Amino acid sequence: MIILRLAIPSPLRKLFDYLPPAGSEQPSFEPGLRVLVPFGNRDLIGILVETTTETQFEISKLKRAKKVLDETPPLPAHLFKLARWAASYYQHPEGDALQQALPVLLRKGQACEYQHELLWRTTTNAQISTLKTNAVRQIELFKLLKEHPSGISLDAIKAEGGTLNTLRSLEEKKLAESFHRPHKSHHDQVLHEAPLTLNEEQQSTLTQLNKRSGFTASLIEGVTGSGKTEVYLQAIEKALSEGKQALVLVPEIGLTPQTVMRFKQRFNLPMAVLHSNLSDRQRLDAWLQAREGVAKIVIGTRSAIFTPLKHPGIIIIDEEHDASFKQQDGFRYSARDLAVMRARAEDIPIILGSATPSLETLHNAKEGRYQWLKMTQRAGTSQAPTFKLLDIRQEKLSEGLSAQLISAIGQHLNNGTQVLVFLNRRGYSPTLSCNDCGWIADCSRCDAHMTLHREPPHLHCHHCDKQQGIPRVCPECNSDQLQPVGVGTERSEQALQKLFPDFPVIRVDRDSTQRKNAMHDIMDKVNSGDPCILVGTQMLAKGHHFPKVTLVAIINADSGLFSADFRGMERTAQLILQVAGRAGRAEDPGTVLMQTYHADHPILQTLVEHGYSAFALEELQNRKAAKLPPYTHYALLRAETTTQYRAESFLAALRQQLEDDLLLPENVHWIGPFPSPMEKRAGMHRAQLMIYAENRKILHQLLANLCWYLEQNKESRKVRWSIDVDPADTF
Ligand code: ADP
Ligand code: ZN
Ligand code: ZN
Repeated sequence: MIILRLAIPSPLRKLFDYLPPAGSEQPSFEPGLRVLVPFGNRDLIGILVETTTETQFEISKLKRAKKVLDETPPLPAHLFKLARWAASYYQHPEGDALQQALPVLLRKGQACEYQHELLWRTTTNAQISTLKTNAVRQIELFKLLKEHPSGISLDAIKAEGGTLNTLRSLEEKKLAESFHRPHKSHHDQVLHEAPLTLNEEQQSTLTQLNKRSGFTASLIEGVTGSGKTEVYLQAIEKALSEGKQALVLVPEIGLTPQTVMRFKQRFNLPMAVLHSNLSDRQRLDAWLQAREGVAKIVIGTRSAIFTPLKHPGIIIIDEEHDASFKQQDGFRYSARDLAVMRARAEDIPIILGSATPSLETLHNAKEGRYQWLKMTQRAGTSQAPTFKLLDIRQEKLSEGLSAQLISAIGQHLNNGTQVLVFLNRRGYSPTLSCNDCGWIADCSRCDAHMTLHREPPHLHCHHCDKQQGIPRVCPECNSDQLQPVGVGTERSEQALQKLFPDFPVIRVDRDSTQRKNAMHDIMDKVNSGDPCILVGTQMLAKGHHFPKVTLVAIINADSGLFSADFRGMERTAQLILQVAGRAGRAEDPGTVLMQTYHADHPILQTLVEHGYSAFALEELQNRKAAKLPPYTHYALLRAETTTQYRAESFLAALRQQLEDDLLLPENVHWIGPFPSPMEKRAGMHRAQLMIYAENRKILHQLLANLCWYLEQNKESRKVRWSIDVDPADTF
């Protein structure tokens, strides 16, 4: 008797046994198949993990599965294994982890079959004069088809305003026809445009990359503008010309039209772009195209790591230091770390690239686990920017801007170039306060102030999203002396516009770019090359190319310098250098001015005088001395409750219990429990316990025991707990 052991999407960390469907003629049950099963009073889709002949239950008590949904598993065996490994490593219920590795429609039971894309074109000899002059829509659609002699998909037609009905009308008149996209063979030309001639550093980097075959992990540490992307493109070209595919992962806000354009312009091969605006159907199609080997290049953010490739050739992780590669809730995996595992399993090269590599990756490079390739010069004609710290301790600031900074901005504008003002706070001002009694607009659900927004006017908590109107008078003392405190991007925009009325001021933050195509319109304005001021948050820091920006002004270089999180320094340094990297990308040399209250801070000085590498090596020494990652391995046990102190006392009791029961192996250490840095958030009280060990295996074993214990324990059902392995931040 064959028993199917399934991972079911439920919060329980266990597998479920079922009998095969009645009358099933399935010759074999391969792990990874989707199986429809009755679960409680509904049907769920489980994933077959293994078959067995033994079960701890009575056979007669086992339910029968309803249907096996696939003939072959959606994920190839090694990716299925990777997803299972990740579930175990990140202590996440396997059923949910395996589901998350699949596109949404497959989780819902849709067929996992590639459908050849249907394209539309005009018929040969079709004459537009056949159409009546008042058939405006048909005429427009006809023209659109004419513009695409090699065919255009229905999706693309709809995006241009056409409809299926109009298309059918043209088809009836024998003016339009549909056909299947022909399969491109790898004899087709790979390139659209000639690659750039590499400079010496790029060439030697590429040579090193191409020297080895099979699995190699390489770090390209290249300053912004050193031409890393060009090296990726040429490394990918090699894989493509061998008939293989490339997987490119980029940060969440790095998947810009500009990035995609560079790939599209270079390669003459089908590409799948997994961006967040795709419908579930489009996402599944892209996924299937990759699995089928039709899409030769797959570009996507974190979740694209589980996209199957028929002929895997190379994996690229651009901006590998970016925190968005780590999922911050639920299945807390690191796509970057999984990518390295994946490349090893597929025996292909992986490139991690960044101007500001994470300390983890640098450590791996230092230890010789990764090939370490450096590019220190900017490519092409542009030069590295000059840094200057502006000491603002004695300065009187006007709306957050020092006199020196204002005068520098004026100079650059009058020279006809563009200025980028970086301020990592959206909204008008970080809070609203009463001048008479000192009342501050706090969020009732979080330990945080509410941010004042003017467009539209409201108070907004950026932590729990609570929004409310702006009070006219102080709720404490009825005074009308309510005043915004501090400067956010809206306020900075207003102040700069007042100071420089002759130049456009363009704000770039989450609020100003919500409208569809907003970013596109902004980039059009910037690309016109006319002098202007860009003021914005870290949205400005990544992926964009602003050739005319010659001055980058960092309003507050100190934020994050004294963070409670041990990664605060690293993140601050990365952000500063990424923003600075926007300056002087073309012929005009760039300047970076950083306002700071801590101009003599050793870290800032190392960064400014000796660059990121020097900073990072110093910071690695500090981490080593303090027994912090990457020298030790961390996990964070978080707990949340609706009542104050409960989360903390729960963790304290847990710690006690483990120590008493001697479940605690040697060489595992605890810190805490402590209240989380923001104790109350969205109405929940939060605490955390840090667990660390020098040996990963020991830590892992303990975490597995801990999970088991927590699932049994009655008390733990009263709190919301989670485990975060290799946490990206400690909040
Ligand atoms: P990175 O990814 O390291 O920030 P990019 O690949 O975006 O750098 O390159 C920065 C700029 O330099 C781009 O405009 C690019 O077209 C140009 N560039 C890169 N390599 C070369 C080269 N070998 N010759 C001329 N220009 C180059
Ligand atoms: Zn008051
Ligand atoms: Zn809040």
